[in-house]
Amino acid sequence: NPPPTLLHPEKWCRGFNHFISQCLIKDFEKRPSVTHLLEHPFIKQVHGKDMSLQKQLAELIQEQQQLGSMARTRRAYHVDRADKYSLDDDLVNLEVLNEDTIIHQLQKRYADLQIYTYVGDILIALNPFQNLSIYSPQFSKLYHGVKRSSNPPHIFASADAAYQSMVTFSKDQCIIISGESGAGKTESAHLIVQHLTFLGKANNRTLREKILQVNPLVEAFGNACTAINDNSSRFGKYLEMMFTPTGAVMGAKISEYLLEKSRVIKQAVGEKNFHIFYYIYAGLYHQKKLSEYRLPDQKPPRYIDNETGRVMHDIVTKDSYGRQFEAIQHCFRIIGFTDEEVYSVYRILTGILNTGNIEFAAISSQHQTDKSEVPNPEALDNAAALLSIGSEELQEALTSHCVVTRGETIIRTNTVDKAADVRDAMSKALYGRLFSWIVNRINTLLHNAESGMNVGILDIFGFENFARNSFEQLCINIANEQIQFYFNQHIFALEQMEYQSEGIDATTVEYEDNRPLLDMFLQKPMGLLSLLDEESRFPQATDLTLVDKFEDNLRCKYFWRPKGVELSFGIQHYAGKVLYDASAFLEKNRDTLPADVVVVLRTSENKLLQQLFSSPLTKTGMFCSYSLMDLLSKMVVGQPHFIRCIKPNDDREALMFSHERVLLQLRYTGILETVKIRQKGYSHRILFEEFVKRYYYLAFKAHETPLGSRENCLAILEKSKLDNWILGKTKVFLKYYHIEQLNLFLREV
Ligand code: ATP
Ligand code: MG
Repeated sequence: NPPPTLLHPEKWCRGFNHFISQCLIKDFEKRPSVTHLLEHPFIKQVHGKDMSLQKQLAELIQEQQQLGSMARTRRAYHVDRADKYSLDDDLVNLEVLNEDTIIHQLQKRYADLQIYTYVGDILIALNPFQNLSIYSPQFSKLYHGVKRSSNPPHIFASADAAYQSMVTFSKDQCIIISGESGAGKTESAHLIVQHLTFLGKANNRTLREKILQVNPLVEAFGNACTAINDNSSRFGKYLEMMFTPTGAVMGAKISEYLLEKSRVIKQAVGEKNFHIFYYIYAGLYHQKKLSEYRLPDQKPPRYIDNETGRVMHDIVTKDSYGRQFEAIQHCFRIIGFTDEEVYSVYRILTGILNTGNIEFAAISSQHQTDKSEVPNPEALDNAAALLSIGSEELQEALTSHCVVTRGETIIRTNTVDKAADVRDAMSKALYGRLFSWIVNRINTLLHNAESGMNVGILDIFGFENFARNSFEQLCINIANEQIQFYFNQHIFALEQMEYQSEGIDATTVEYEDNRPLLDMFLQKPMGLLSLLDEESRFPQATDLTLVDKFEDNLRCKYFWRPKGVELSFGIQHYAGKVLYDASAFLEKNRDTLPADVVVVLRTSENKLLQQLFSSPLTKTGMFCSYSLMDLLSKMVVGQPHFIRCIKPNDDREALMFSHERVLLQLRYTGILETVKIRQKGYSHRILFEEFVKRYYYLAFKAHETPLGSRENCLAILEKSKLDNWILGKTKVFLKYYHIEQLNLFLREV
């Protein structure tokens, strides 16, 4: 059998002799990377710099890859796979358990495009970096309410487990998706929503359609292209899908955390602003409506043009942004935003783009050197017009500020730099509040007052380690630190504590506890975030005094300060060492918007904009920690299900499996330990009473109401012929697979 990537080997011979083709084929099989192949000495030698041939080859290979992967997927996920149950599907079945065996198994599966693998009830998902044909409605049906071992591991099976568990036990569930940036969390979250909407067959088709539009809409505003991921989440998202007691979808609610607002005003080299800005600019360009929104048609506004010429070129030559804009308009409409609301949103977005173009110049007279003005009023007038405020007032608010001293109000002028800061602070505030408003509006439109149960899906920004890491990366990485802690708690700590208190002798599994590190961040009053807040309150403080303060107070092995670089400090995160650059930390944490600006924005004739600024002014400090606490308190409520996304390589290439990169991720997420504890441990611990209530049908008559006693539990367990369970002092201890078996028995009864 020829390997599936080589379905048409004869095509390969085009331009090469047979021997060379065979060598290339062999090489490609070993390392399926187009870039690598183009670098092959044969190709270079024979065809030198013949670009057209290289392009032809690349296309050919891509075609082969696609054909090959389709064939593989079909084989791997074939509905009628001969051996229904494969031991390879679950790492818990490994006889020899170590890093090598785990990674070998994952690699073997990945080569077969089996991207999903279980560790007991936990799902590992390797990013395939290509579209697989395994998410169609047929697959949703295939994974609906069947025994897990009937099919290969799949994200739909995990969504199904959460759903079944919610319906069976009338209990809220939460699915926690983790992994570093680009590992596939957001894609996984979409797939879960897709499957849950399928399962919660509401008669109400419109509602289902609405729910499916929520993610694309919110992500257009909250995601952006970064150095790591073209669609990177720049906020944390917790989407709750609400169901009736019988399991029909009845609504949805979304919570957002820590939007990276600074991206609105500035992006690192090779990165972009939030998607929506490009969509709207391109959409208006193609609809010939730029002038209506006072945007130039030759050169995009400064906020979205950090790589001169690139954006305009993309907009003119490709229409994908324009099409995305239409898609967003469609989302707004389906979810139920009014035309007036959408129009106001566009005016605010284009208002922000115009605001970014406002420039300042110093007025230097004899008396004053620290005064600024707007030399070219066009952008100012445009911004003011779009935001429906007076342009004089806007100029005032940007170039001066009121100070109240001893009961007197004095007007002080702003320097050029200060004025530019105020302008950018205004843009950030506008965008941040607009984003929150959209999220709230979606919640109102999809809200259902009836009480029910929900499945929450947590998809946050993944761990990041760039060449330069700033305040945003710190917030993101602390959030990930908390998720890891939450995982550890559920998988290791709580479980082992219960064995002890129930008098059960289960071997303990050592794991890397990141509690001390989290304490270093969150402890009050001496944790990093408290120190940051404290320093933010001193007007005289600088970023340097902040780092000094960290160094003086954070005396632990997780923090260090490299010599010679003043504003830099390092943190040993659970996922690796990260070097931070503390420039602008204080300013970013203060996140203040001058009252003068708020006053002007409140005078807007745009009702939506007025509303955005009608709420209390600023919340200073505690910016980062506040949101995190909120996030955790939400998650603690439901029964957790974990999905761990893994990035097989850093080149975003299909079929490439970097041993090193995967190993690193397996290590820091504690997968080896997770497999151990799932092998030895009991992931379900159910109180006697609860157990009898749930499963008494299995041993008693329907009309009986047996006591929640140890004996009755024993009777049920014996009747169900399970083995390997344990009875503690007050609880039944079950393996993850017992629950599925018990539920199946229940259904049969
Ligand atoms: P971040 O933390 O930056 O938000 P993330 O973990 O959410 O990253 P995703 O945006 O979900 O990462 O995935 C990155 C890219 O990987 C996607 O844009 C997509 O191209 C690819 N990808 C991920 N999962 C899948 C999948 N199941 N099938 C096909 N492609 C996928
Ligand atoms: Mg994401």
